[in-house]
Amino acid sequence: MERRLYIETYGCQMNVADSELMLGQLGRAGYRRVERADEADVILVNTCAIREHAEQRIYGRLGELTRHKLRRPGVVLGVAGCMAQHLRAKLIERVPQVDLVVGPDGYRRLPELIEEARAEPTLAVRSSRVETYGDLVPARADGVRAWVSIMRGCDKFCTFCIVPYVRGRERSLPAGEVLRQVEHAAAEGFREIVFLGQTVNAYRDGDVDFAELLTRANRIEGIARIRFTSPHPSDMSDRAIEAMAACEKVPPHLHLPLQSGSDSVLARMRRIYTVEEYERLVGKIRRAMPGIALSTDIIVGFPGETGEDFEATRAAMERIGYESAFIFKYSPRPGARSADWLETVDEEEKTRRITLLIEEQKDRSLLKNQSDIDSTVEVLVEGATRRTPSEWFGKSAHFKTTVFPHRAERVGDLISVRVAAATPHAVLGEGVRAANFAAVEDVLA
Ligand code: SAM
Ligand code: SF4
Repeated sequence: MERRLYIETYGCQMNVADSELMLGQLGRAGYRRVERADEADVILVNTCAIREHAEQRIYGRLGELTRHKLRRPGVVLGVAGCMAQHLRAKLIERVPQVDLVVGPDGYRRLPELIEEARAEPTLAVRSSRVETYGDLVPARADGVRAWVSIMRGCDKFCTFCIVPYVRGRERSLPAGEVLRQVEHAAAEGFREIVFLGQTVNAYRDGDVDFAELLTRANRIEGIARIRFTSPHPSDMSDRAIEAMAACEKVPPHLHLPLQSGSDSVLARMRRIYTVEEYERLVGKIRRAMPGIALSTDIIVGFPGETGEDFEATRAAMERIGYESAFIFKYSPRPGARSADWLETVDEEEKTRRITLLIEEQKDRSLLKNQSDIDSTVEVLVEGATRRTPSEWFGKSAHFKTTVFPHRAERVGDLISVRVAAATPHAVLGEGVRAANFAAVEDVLA
């Protein structure tokens, strides 16, 4: 009997990659993916627990999905990912229609777990110190970009963060498996590889460190670009910087999370660097790769963040001059160290701080994008924009969304686009109207 699987993914790229892993596992067990929950006999939700807001949203969605079980009681409803690992049996207490709760280390046995869940509610939340799934072949979505998880887990234990508790200890895939996956993705026609890991640059397999892995991947034919996310500033070795600069397939863009521009906040976050050390690192990176585009993550309203600390973050963002930034309100996560600390910044003040940083970053991003006007950027073509099908988009080497009028380009082509205009979210080729692309959502298909 053919089995039909519907999967929904929340959270970061690691979850996107994990969903592809699950699709691969279940595909080999005879499941076919369907695009609508009402066509499926197994519904999986791959979840995120990084902020409370993510969990609330997923609870809402699970409430909707339980309707399918009411109509067709044989349907299996499974919750995978970080929220599954975080809440374990509590998830079934809160949503009794859930049949399966499976954490990030349980995916190898997914086909068997689904069979068990047909008979009784099933929990698979044991953490593993060794599971990397390096030998499993993911079913990658179509497109130009292949996600390759090169390591799992995290040993940093930043005090705000739930990741080490839900994804377990840091472990790297064998280098041979990573390179085999890159070759496989190249053979499948993917043009860009994104190496994934919570501290991706802490990668190590024997003598092969992150720098060596980049260097070896750079030799693989068919791949045009190799990116990675997220590196931790304290693991950014000179060797990694040299390898980035030397590998022509590694584009000049780096996402380097800062979190805060105040040393006392960074110390309480246990980020293990100071602002000065971070900026020294940025200096080194910019000397090795002049013109490199930088992006970052920032948290506002961490317990004890004073007005002065916040001003220090504003000033650091201005000095460093990021191309773009993901800015979050601090969200206490039960289980993480800081969850027990008194929250000193109320919701209204968090909103004020985040709004200010977002506005300032928007202005900065616009100026950065405008500085590309009249230059030519190299774009990896991804497809038609959502709003205007005759206008296509792709990413520039600086990882800027670039829109251009479509002629004969195909998905996966590397093309040159002369930039004529800019918005805070995109750079636009000749003939593209800025008004059509006021928001990033207007662009991405
Ligand atoms: N491993 C990556 C690193 O260290 O930069 C990022 C992991 S996390 C998926 C992505 C971002 O979420 C973090 O960089 C941080 O800015 C944010 N984040 C994590 N925990 C948070 C919390 N409790 N409240 C608000 N933002 C949080
Ligand atoms: Fe979380 Fe810190 Fe690990 Fe990133 S490095 S996943 S923020 S604990």
